[in-house]
Amino acid sequence: MTLFNPAYFRQQFPALADAGVYLDSAATALKPQAVIDATQHYYSLSAGTVHRSQHAAARKLTERYESARAQVARLINAPDARSIIWTRGTTEAINLVAQSALLPLLRPGDEILVSEAEHHANLVPWLMVAQQSGARVVKWPLGADRLPDMAQLPALLNEKTRLLALGQMSNVTGGQPDLAQAIRLAHAAGAKVMVDGAQGVVHCPPDVQALDIDFYAFSGHKLYGPMGIGALYGKAELLAAMSPWQGGGKMLSQVDFSGFTPQPVPWRFEAGTPNVAGVIGLSAALEWLEQIDMQAAERWSSDLAGLAEEQLQQIPGFRSFRCGASSLLSFDIAGLHHSDIVTLLAESGVAVRAGQHCAQPLMAALGVSGTLRASFAPYNTRQDVNALVRAIQHAFTLLTE
Ligand code: PMP
Repeated sequence: MTLFNPAYFRQQFPALADAGVYLDSAATALKPQAVIDATQHYYSLSAGTVHRSQHAAARKLTERYESARAQVARLINAPDARSIIWTRGTTEAINLVAQSALLPLLRPGDEILVSEAEHHANLVPWLMVAQQSGARVVKWPLGADRLPDMAQLPALLNEKTRLLALGQMSNVTGGQPDLAQAIRLAHAAGAKVMVDGAQGVVHCPPDVQALDIDFYAFSGHKLYGPMGIGALYGKAELLAAMSPWQGGGKMLSQVDFSGFTPQPVPWRFEAGTPNVAGVIGLSAALEWLEQIDMQAAERWSSDLAGLAEEQLQQIPGFRSFRCGASSLLSFDIAGLHHSDIVTLLAESGVAVRAGQHCAQPLMAALGVSGTLRASFAPYNTRQDVNALVRAIQHAFTLLTE
């Protein structure tokens, strides 16, 4: 691991030359040159696909594709590469768990406990299986600190609770619930736990064994990797009990008109030609990340968010929804609409996101129709903070004149 050098880190991202002030990394992170090179190299020079053809190039590709599973396993301390399933991203991973792990167990009256802070990707799949089975989705409300209220959790868990769905980090507030405690309580009540790591993984990859996580999902594109690739981790015994969700090529060992025999885990969940370029790009991102002191990088980006928050306090009506020392800064300005502000920021060349951030229940809990969100990454600079603050001051002046 090398030390974190902000200027050197920034140089790795060619998009920054054109992206203006990019403060939207919580939507998707920019890609370092190493990831671009690996993906381009694959499309320029590799021949064939994985797990199908026997020629040498295809065999080499299959080895690379399979060894990337071990990299993901190392990232989150999974005990075995075979407990890593490739998916299109977090959304697909959670849907897979909902349809394949949970739905077959659900009976009318069963409960699925979901925190109020969740992204729609960690709510709608549970609503869908509840509708399919007659089970019920139960809300775990936020506390005053905008985190799911731990004090209420024991009373919400009961013998009907089959699963707790909880995000590692909110994509709005940046809040990180105490996963260890929530998982302990859920397990004591006999419930499994699905952790949505889409936002959290880049800030702090979890130790899935130490935390005793049942299922963990993340997307490559928020971790400096390509879009369209992500992973699901599941405990071996839980994955082994799950039936395939999608059928097609390479997920089975035998098929005739009377039925089929699925492959072992993880391949039974990977029907069809996979996103090989995505896996190779994600593997390059993980290799690249191994050389970086991610804790120092994390401090850099959260300090920038803190600085922006401090400077924006000068704007009348500014209100921050930031939890702790997060690198995500969600905020609003009393009397002004977030969509007017974001339009003016775009004209100033400052890219932030405004709206509901695919978290409508959280917006309702916060009592807002939407927020602005500036999300900082280690490639951002103090100049970016200054540009954001100047652009908001300018927007404020225009909109209040
Ligand atoms: N959960 C959270 C907390 C997210 O921020 C996102 C992405 N915005 C998702 C889930 C879904 O990720 P993806 O769209 O990559 O599947």
